Amino acid sequence: MSIYKRFYPEYSFEKVTDIDVEGMKNKGIKLVLLDIDNTLVPYTSPDPDEQALSFLQKLRDNGIGFAFVSNNGRERVDRFNKDIGADFVCRAKKPLLYGINKMMKLHGVTKAETALIGDQIFTDIWGGKRAGITTYLVSPIKEVDTLFFKFKRRYEKKVIKSYNKYKQNKGEC
Ligand SMILES: [Mg+2]
Repeated sequence: MSIYKRFYPEYSFEKVTDIDVEGMKNKGIKLVLLDIDNTLVPYTSPDPDEQALSFLQKLRDNGIGFAFVSNNGRERVDRFNKDIGADFVCRAKKPLLYGINKMMKLHGVTKAETALIGDQIFTDIWGGKRAGITTYLVSPIKEVDTLFFKFKRRYEKKVIKSYNKYKQNKGEC
């Protein structure tokens, strides 16, 4: 078994709008915890765009609740959430479980009824995995070109490569 397996998401899509929301509903998901930066909009976009809003509407149309669990600060999350009015946790410090657990408790849902969508393996996905909820990985909308991110992405790529191999051949050992 790959040493990276603990970081594998349950599902992966290129972008949030590719996610099969009806399939999510059929699996019994009642609450989706959403990362904002590079998942719903680029890190540099303060407001939600058409794509993000249409995805949130799709969740509503399917009777799935959502909340933002962001590692970014209050100012960022408040501005993004201004016209949406969702519950949120900012400075969530994912992969720590505090924000994830807080939103699950607030919405009165079980682990089996909760999913998390994010673009980062070592914060979003690892946090979700540790919380025991279903995880969805999307490709980051826009790379932030700093040395730190380059370094981190390099290790994420190793996990993703290993995960893609696993997806192709579930019999990997
Ligand atoms: Mg992100």
